[in-house]
Amino acid sequence: MNFSKQEIINILKDDSQNDWLFELADKVRRENVGDEVHLRGLIEFSNICKCMCKYCGLRSPNKNIDRYRIEPDDVISCAEKAVELGYKTIVLQSGEDEFYSRDVMCKIIKGIKEFDCALTLSIGERSFEDYKAFKDCGADRYLIRIETTDRELYKKMHPNMDFDNRVRCLKDLKTLGYEVGTGCLVGLPEQTIESLADDILFFKEIGADMIGIGPFIAHPETPLKDCENGNFTLALKVMALTRVLLKNVNIPATTAMETLNPNGRIIALQSGANVVMPNVTTEKFSSKYEIYPDKSSLSDRDEAERIIKSIGRTISKGYGFRSNS
Ligand code: SF4
Repeated sequence: MNFSKQEIINILKDDSQNDWLFELADKVRRENVGDEVHLRGLIEFSNICKCMCKYCGLRSPNKNIDRYRIEPDDVISCAEKAVELGYKTIVLQSGEDEFYSRDVMCKIIKGIKEFDCALTLSIGERSFEDYKAFKDCGADRYLIRIETTDRELYKKMHPNMDFDNRVRCLKDLKTLGYEVGTGCLVGLPEQTIESLADDILFFKEIGADMIGIGPFIAHPETPLKDCENGNFTLALKVMALTRVLLKNVNIPATTAMETLNPNGRIIALQSGANVVMPNVTTEKFSSKYEIYPDKSSLSDRDEAERIIKSIGRTISKGYGFRSNS
């Protein structure tokens, strides 16, 4: 099934079609990626960031945050424990922290790839040469959300960043053979429904393999602290439409969904999502990685399994690549 931009806009604007859309997305998910849910073990290894994204609690001007860096050897041990627990994918996420240079990241990647797992990186904008070095060391996937394809809004939300460089990163990663993940924030101030339709079409155009969609949640230590939170249902609709249009991609039920709705992750899994990313960061640090407030943390694998089984789904035993998922 394919929708034009106007059809996407109409669906996003018309809430009377919601049940139809969520059921359709669930059906497309079942037909294309099956009932298995992929668990990815998420390690948030540094909350230090040089960027100033206006919605993010980790932005560099925020002084009311306890910053941390996990030592490279400790990141590797944390991954080893997660693999022992049964995770087949490790996701390494951080702010844009220059301490983790090309050489440091290569050491971490090689260490983790000694274990039986796929490895996803989510560490921001880097040069083609960095991305190539990480790939050569064994990194499999890379997440870098575009957040919004509205250039003007992108500029307002990301001081000192460049939309074209963000797109360059996504293209470089594709060229290098990574599985590439992107996504958007739904409910940013001044964001239009038309631009959300453009976001969905952009995911398709660049050939993304993974799409993470989350509602905007106002963080008290950011310039957007007084803005209204994004709408859960609208974020769910963007996610469901992404499933319908992109079919066999991997789509996480994001933590932000659960922050706005106590059953957010279950609802997302029943509206197109097929991935859950429990946090496996050492407890000492996990509460300090606060992009938005009250971040839900499905840190316990047993709890993730319980949720997935409660809706009749199974945990995947594979690495969860797009092609063989
Ligand atoms: S969104 Fe990412 S790049 Fe932007 S400030 Fe937060 S951690 Fe840094």
